Amino acid sequence: MPEPDAWASALQDLRDLILPGMTHWQSPRHFAHFPASSSTVGALGESLIAGINVVPFTWAASPAAAELEMVVVDWLGKALHLPASLLFAGGGGGTLLGTTCEAILCALVAARDRKLAEVGWGRIGDLVVYCSDQTHFSFRKAARIAGIQRGHCREIPTSLEDMFALSPEALEAAMQTDVDAGLVPLFLCATVGTTQTTAVDPLRGLCAVAATHGLWVHVDAAYAGSALVCPEFSHVVDGVEAVDSFSMNAHKWLLVNNDCCAMWVKKPAALVAALGTEQEYILKDAAAEGHDVVDYKDWTMTLTRRFRALKMWLVLRCYSVEGLCGHIRSHVRMAAAFEDLVRDDARFEVVTDRHFALVCFRLLSTERLGGEKKANELNRRLLEKVNAATLGPYMSAANAGGIYMLRCAVGSTLTEERHVREAWKVVQEQASSLLRKMEIGKP
Ligand code: PLP
Repeated sequence: MPEPDAWASALQDLRDLILPGMTHWQSPRHFAHFPASSSTVGALGESLIAGINVVPFTWAASPAAAELEMVVVDWLGKALHLPASLLFAGGGGGTLLGTTCEAILCALVAARDRKLAEVGWGRIGDLVVYCSDQTHFSFRKAARIAGIQRGHCREIPTSLEDMFALSPEALEAAMQTDVDAGLVPLFLCATVGTTQTTAVDPLRGLCAVAATHGLWVHVDAAYAGSALVCPEFSHVVDGVEAVDSFSMNAHKWLLVNNDCCAMWVKKPAALVAALGTEQEYILKDAAAEGHDVVDYKDWTMTLTRRFRALKMWLVLRCYSVEGLCGHIRSHVRMAAAFEDLVRDDARFEVVTDRHFALVCFRLLSTERLGGEKKANELNRRLLEKVNAATLGPYMSAANAGGIYMLRCAVGSTLTEERHVREAWKVVQEQASSLLRKMEIGKP
């Protein structure tokens, strides 16, 4: 038997017992990781999805849901200035998945099956995939799931001098070594906006090199993809016309509540060849026969899927592309202001170029701090103290090229300039106290 007033007392427990133990990702002081974007429209969209609760696995299972998804991914692709070849309107097409992990896995199995059909199904053990040492772990995970040998995932080193971007020359050399060893290059996962520092892999150069060995090129723009709504960011995907697939998380920075990862492919038939299932009798529907419709279950691993198109459609309609641009630009402006504050304090340095709304910074490593290793330890302690400060910001860290840095990712819907200024003040205060304790605060 449910307790009397079960709903009310559960809500009370939520407030008293559960919420205090949570990390508040929607706080205006949340600067860690990447944002989990949200909006009232996105939240209402989620509620509508939950209430309507359809299961659009085939077109026939919910025609308007399938068709809305097709319309919305084309709208979104156009809003992000993606090439027509990735949209339904240009012979490609897109879908809305839960996460980038799913998107990369789907693209990889499509590429794998296409390559094995060409070189022989027995050669799965010879396939090699490529990424940089900055690529998100979801790619390595996908490679394992897709049956790529553990030793056949080449993580090409990057460096601070190249701002942690993948070099086409290094990719070319790695592929040539593999070809010389009788192996089969299969797939490149390039990233626009890496998780640690938002590094941007140069698509044009990478695609040119990849084409020499028939690689499938996927672009993971999980975070930075949202910025493409502003035309001034189009340069970060220069050469994108040549890629085979592209994904971004609208739930990271485009005001769509969790979860909503958009993926586009140039050749949907390759996805369907790898992931399509023979239509079970129970899923067949005469109304679909002879129509150019999409059965989205054939584009991904799952059968049951969510009606994500509804919330994406609502966000696009209610904010408009101009509204979304304004949202991105305000965060970029605030991040630039934070960057200026860091640069104005000689004790600190901005470590990597700021491409979007993430600033990677640290207490400068000086002789007095005792060298790089000690500087890393000091910055680690600084982050601990910043995050422990009452009503302070919550930030996270990166460690690239052996350099430990603090990450300030501006992107919460509620963040205003004052939160950014306050966050910097806390960082400065904690740094002063740390340096004082070490008696190296003054020259
Ligand atoms: N790729 C990049 C560049 C990311 O930053 C992230 C998460 O932050 C992911 C992939 C994983 O995204 P998801 O949780 O949607 O799988």
